[in-house]
Amino acid sequence: MGVEPGRELMNLSTLGEFGLIQHLSQKLQTRAGVSLGIGDDAAVLQTLQTPIVTCDCLVENVHFRRDWTTPFLLGRKALSVNLSDCAAMGARPVAAFVALVVGENVDLLWLDELYRGLESVCADFDFTLAGGDTSRGAQTVLSVTLLGDAPNPVLRSGAQVGDVLLVTGTLGDSAAGLQILLAETVEETSRILPQVSAATREDLLSRHFDPTPRLREMNVALMIQNHGERVLHAALDLSDGLAGDARHIANRSGVTLEINADALPISPQSRDVAALLGTSAQEWALRGGEDYELLMCVAPRSSHAVAQSITAATNTLVTAVGRVVPREAEPVITIANGERQAARGAFEHF
Ligand code: ADP
Ligand code: MG
Repeated sequence: MGVEPGRELMNLSTLGEFGLIQHLSQKLQTRAGVSLGIGDDAAVLQTLQTPIVTCDCLVENVHFRRDWTTPFLLGRKALSVNLSDCAAMGARPVAAFVALVVGENVDLLWLDELYRGLESVCADFDFTLAGGDTSRGAQTVLSVTLLGDAPNPVLRSGAQVGDVLLVTGTLGDSAAGLQILLAETVEETSRILPQVSAATREDLLSRHFDPTPRLREMNVALMIQNHGERVLHAALDLSDGLAGDARHIANRSGVTLEINADALPISPQSRDVAALLGTSAQEWALRGGEDYELLMCVAPRSSHAVAQSITAATNTLVTAVGRVVPREAEPVITIANGERQAARGAFEHF
């Protein structure tokens, strides 16, 4: 970006660890719920009703590549994936803590952009980056811990037989975006890609690099009651693919989740790219990771009301994709073209 890397590296070492923390924290704002943010030995928070804590770690060359993403978007994503967990619990975010390992060749400009990305998400969802820790290392690692408040947490264990499965947004777009990036590195497939319009490429890459945590959507679902009882029984956020993640609810709740594969919400953009690459957008929707949409188990009588209220308030599409049935041998069953079969798993790190 027109700045000599050598000069920036020098800036970083001239600043030193404390100078760097002070420099980065200058542009951060302290918001409601936090009495004291960065600067002391620990942050001071105000009382929470039911604190929830979640933690996610992004490792260079495992979860991100510095030549593919900008530091601004990396900062946003690091917080958004934690917010997505927070949303799935039915919690309001309060304070985030960032443990940062600064890799070799990272300069001050890169860190400035990373923190601009982090702060932009704090501003979007009204919480505070209240502290962290800084170290140097061979590659960059960004670990975010998020504290939230969930007066009535929504658990994976609450699904009831008969519940309708709702998902927010569209599924598989993040996988489609990743497949575009991968295809661009292979000569054979890179020749096909010019047929993907710039707008489609942009849309899918932004779903991959800048997912929207569904906090607002969850807030709407939490408010809907029937005879004074919450109609949302269980939820989780989809980070590793619907087919695999659905297992967690099934196993925790002692039920089976039946997913109608033909009903999955798939964007036209994802369909277009899948067709060009000769693969299936439905596969991406079922087994692609990093969608960060919510899967909710909702009382059948209220599922329309929940879906409609969420869409009315947030403009986010909500689709019924299946139902909760009594426990079978398989935790997750998919139905496609009338055929009922056990769902295969999804992405795993090990
Ligand atoms: P200590 O050595 O007592 O742990 P540090 O020097 O690591 O203190 O941190 C000083 C302050 O700066 C603390 O408030 C800490 O939370 C904050 N901090 C340190 N590193 C970061 C970081 N990467 N991002 C945000 N805040 C940080
Ligand atoms: Mg420290």
